Amino acid sequence: MVKGGVPFSETIGPDGDAKRTKTFKDLIREVHDPGICGQCGGCVSFCYAGDLVAIEMDANGKPHYINEENCLQCGICFLICPQINILDEEIQQLFNWKPPIGSYKHIVSAKTTNPEIAKVCSDGGVVTSLLVYLLEHKLIDGAIVSVSEGPFGRKPIVATTKEKIISAAGSRFIGKSNIEELGNFTTYSQTMFALRDIKNLDMLKIAVVGTPCQIHTIRKMQYLGVMPAHVVKYTIGLFCYENFSFSVDEVEEVEETLGVKIADIKKINLKEEFIITTKDDKIKNIPLSELEKVARPACFACTDYANDFSDISVGGIGSPDGYSTTIIRNDIGQKIFSSALRNGYLEELDVGEELDRGSGLHITENGVCLSSKARKELILKFARNKRARGLATLEKLRKKSENQPQSGLEKEGEQPVNPAPTPDQKVEQLNIS
Ligand SMILES: Cc1cc2nc3c(=O)[nH]c(=O)nc-3n(C[C@H](O)[C@H](O)[C@H](O)COP(=O)(O)OP(=O)(O)OC[C@H]3O[C@@H](n4cnc5c(N)ncnc54)[C@H](O)[C@@H]3O)c2cc1C
Ligand code: SF4
Ligand code: SF4
Ligand code: SF4
Repeated sequence: MVKGGVPFSETIGPDGDAKRTKTFKDLIREVHDPGICGQCGGCVSFCYAGDLVAIEMDANGKPHYINEENCLQCGICFLICPQINILDEEIQQLFNWKPPIGSYKHIVSAKTTNPEIAKVCSDGGVVTSLLVYLLEHKLIDGAIVSVSEGPFGRKPIVATTKEKIISAAGSRFIGKSNIEELGNFTTYSQTMFALRDIKNLDMLKIAVVGTPCQIHTIRKMQYLGVMPAHVVKYTIGLFCYENFSFSVDEVEEVEETLGVKIADIKKINLKEEFIITTKDDKIKNIPLSELEKVARPACFACTDYANDFSDISVGGIGSPDGYSTTIIRNDIGQKIFSSALRNGYLEELDVGEELDRGSGLHITENGVCLSSKARKELILKFARNKRARGLATLEKLRKKSENQPQSGLEKEGEQPVNPAPTPDQKVEQLNIS
């Protein structure tokens, strides 16, 4: 695909005619203006202008032109943006994707055998145990993980030791929370910046833990040959219904919704509901519908729940407490999961005897839990709901765009590579319920 030099300066349309390559200007029009930029930083991190610096993140974490004249018009930023569907068909074909959760080999519930990981992990510690297994068996030089900076703060790092990998497990927060100093709150981690830094670290084999949008971007980069995606040998994807973000000004309102002071939160988790553990070990479950006002607008336009393009996807939904629901998707995922099991890093839940055919429940040594069929149904339900919500949002944006005047980006008679909506309305102004 990459033609050498400027990779996508000219793209040929299906009829053999030259078509304009979409660039960062088009990202502004199709992603920023409708309010669905997820601020992942992918466009800025992998911009082909490199040291010339054409685009950067502004003080509010949004990408913008800093030197438009340095833009090489290569189109990479447009192609890899997770909010642009231009390469969807190619990626879906490569991964033999089927709705609603992509292709997979098995779904299991599993947990770590390491008590240190069990103490700090979100669910069953499968993600951290797999990474530790990969590192200790020299299958990776490091892993991109995200460390907690408070209950609503995450920072991506490249972890090259077992200790660092374990330090990023879970979503817990120990220590004082100084709300004024924290500025904006978000559960989203800008993993793409850590991937950019890999370029300078001389690493040849890494694993990445990420949300579906992040893994999707990595797959697009691998498809296009954008560096350094070629060093990503293992992708461990988290399930993701949505991420949250809010400003200091919204803290009081959020605390009212949560019924808890942010400074009193020890751990957060997302399964069927948003689960808070307070510092005095009380547990509060909050339905996701009550948190819609602090969900990121980008997430309403997202259709991937179960991280359909990862090697292994992990979530908490459908498993008993202390276990992670694990979708083993491909040969790579199967190989590392089986080997981690064999080498004693993980153990699978023994499904035990069936309790009641109608109820979808089983008895295990952990008590009563969902049968494998009921667990799968639950994942499918969430995946279908999220997909329907994402498609409805995109359709609303498309309809709105039909009424927008021409942007003037195209010269007369010229068609863009990927004719797409040009909405100017903010997604938050839409009724997306
Ligand atoms: C923002 C978010 C939304 C989620 N939504 C759902 C959901 O709707 N339903 C569901 O069943 N599960 C959801 N999960 C997954 C679930 O919370 C657990 O992360 C998952 O079950 C793995 O548990 P574990 O104990 O195996 O992982 P652990 O061993 O605890 O490891 C967790 C790994 O995730 C990484 N991580 C933590 N936060 C982030 C982040 N924001 N971005 C990227 N990486 C991160 C950590 O660095 C660590 O490597 C979500 C997770 C996140 C971070
Ligand atoms: S140089 Fe390429 S990647 Fe950078 S802004 Fe321009 S079109 Fe986007
Ligand atoms: S979603 Fe990411 S890649 Fe797309 S415009 Fe926003 S920051 Fe750039
Ligand atoms: S809901 Fe989608 S866009 Fe939002 S963080 Fe999750 S994967 Fe990314």
